[in-house]
Amino acid sequence: MKAARPGFCPTCGKPAPYVPDNAWRPFCSERCKSIDLGAWASEVYRIPAKEDEDGDPSEPDKEGGGE
Ligand SMILES: [Zn+2]
Repeated sequence: MKAARPGFCPTCGKPAPYVPDNAWRPFCSERCKSIDLGAWASEVYRIPAKEDEDGDPSEPDKEGGGE
């Protein structure tokens, strides 16, 4: 006889019951689910965002160099 599988929320690490009754499984709550999805989305958005580094050629930001 198999009981409900004990699981752990990937977001907060708290025990999250892996049962059909838990609508957010494998997460423990809706909040943890959106946090996980949000982190994933921001990670993806962070990559192309770096291509926006277009310096102004008419404004030198450093002269000579050295410290
Ligand atoms: Zn959680």
